[in-house]
Amino acid sequence: MSDCLFCKIVEGKIPSAKVYEDDDMLAFKDIAPARPVHVLLIPKKHITSLATLAADDAGVLGRMLARANAIAVEQGSPDGFRVIINTGRVGQQEVPHLHIHIVGGPEPVGPMLKRI
Ligand code: 5GP
Ligand code: ZN
Repeated sequence: MSDCLFCKIVEGKIPSAKVYEDDDMLAFKDIAPARPVHVLLIPKKHITSLATLAADDAGVLGRMLARANAIAVEQGSPDGFRVIINTGRVGQQEVPHLHIHIVGGPEPVGPMLKRI
């Protein structure tokens, strides 16, 4: 999608602090980190949100979740982390390209529904 911010990051048209990349996903540091560790993990393929998943998107989403712990540990969150997937208007999703927030650090991240 030519107009999508995160597609532009995938294409290298907008710089990002990459922390992991493979054939179907990219992880980079959030530009406005809410915690000491705050990484965005996205599919390279444009998927708008969890509300618009196709049946065959389940595989990449599973692989992304399976990668989250290794990314968190490597970035400095060895004792767990939180994943957040804001979805649509009610979920207050700001960037319409599916992304998994991985948040953590040395200390607990705080209340469950605090806006990050
Ligand atoms: P959302 O609210 O859609 O779940 O989260 C979007 C996230 O993208 C926010 O945490 C915001 O800080 C981050 N973000 C927005 N623009 C950029 C950017 O250009 N680069 C990076 N690295 N993060 C961004
Ligand atoms: Zn996109």
